Amino acid sequence: MAVFQGKSVLALGGSRGIGAAIVRRFAAEGAAVTFTYAGSPEAAKQLAAETGATAALTDSSDRDAVIARVRESGPLDVLVVNAGIAVFGDALDQDPDAIDRLFRINVHAPYHASVEAARRMPEGGRIIVIGSVNGDRMPVAGMASYALSKSALQGLARGLARDLGPRGITVNIVQPGPIDTDANPADGPMKDLMHSFMAIKRHGRPEEVAGMVAWLAGPEAGFVTGAMHTIDGGFGA
Ligand code: NDP
Repeated sequence: MAVFQGKSVLALGGSRGIGAAIVRRFAAEGAAVTFTYAGSPEAAKQLAAETGATAALTDSSDRDAVIARVRESGPLDVLVVNAGIAVFGDALDQDPDAIDRLFRINVHAPYHASVEAARRMPEGGRIIVIGSVNGDRMPVAGMASYALSKSALQGLARGLARDLGPRGITVNIVQPGPIDTDANPADGPMKDLMHSFMAIKRHGRPEEVAGMVAWLAGPEAGFVTGAMHTIDGGFGA
C-alpha cells in the first residue's frame, strides 16, 4: 500500500533497531525517506541500499548539526525522532558529561528538530518522537536520567501540539516498553525482570512500534495530538 506516496519523511536515528523498522515501513509505503545515523555507517549503508532511503551522517548530540539536517531535508510531511540512548548506573557515580550528552540526544535534539521542522511543515504534517514507557513508570534503579529524558518528551508533545494545532500539524509521543533491539535484546540478562512487570511476557518487535508510528503519521490520525501512545505489553499497566 502506498499510503505515503509523495510524502517526505525524515527519521533521526534510523540505522538500527526501532528506527530501521520505521525507515523500512515508510519506504515500503512509498515515502521519500531520509534517515540519520552516527556510529553505524555500515548498517546505514545497507539499509539505504535495501530500502532506497537516503542515509545522512548527523550526530544527534550536536544541536546545530541536527537543525541543519532538518533544514536541508526541505519541507517535511513527517518528522520522526527516534535516536535515543540510556546511561545505566548509580546516579551518584555517573559522569556528568555523559548525562548531559544523554539530555542533548534524548531531549534537546527532539525539541530543536521539531521546531525546525515546523517552520516549513505543511498542513497535515506529523511530528512523532519515540519516548518510553519509562516516561510514565520507572520500576528499577539506575535509570533516572533516562526516565527524566523520556518524561520531558511528554511536555514537548503537549506544548508543541498547542503551538502547531492551528496549522493542522500533530505532535505525538510513542512510548515503547521492552523492544528486541541491540539496546535491549530479547535474550538479555534483564529479560526475566522486565517480563515480570508485563501482561504480555515477551519483548515487542521493532515492526510493532513502526506500525504505531505509521498509523500516527497516516490519514486516520489527524485528530490525534499532544498525546502519549504506549506500546509496552502492559509493562506500565
Ligand atoms: P538502538 O540502540 O538499537 O538503536 C539506536 C538508534 O539510534 C541507532 O540507529 C543509532 O544510530 C541511533 N542513534 C543513537 N545515538 C545517536 C546519535 N548521537 N546520533 C544519531 N543517531 C543516534 O536503540 P532502540 O532501537 O532500542 O531504541 C530506539 C528508541 O526507542 C530510543 O529513543 C529508545 O530510548 C527508545 N526505546 C527503546 C526501547 C527498547 O526496549 N528497545 C524501549 C523504550 C524506548 P547509530 O548506531 O548509527 O549511532
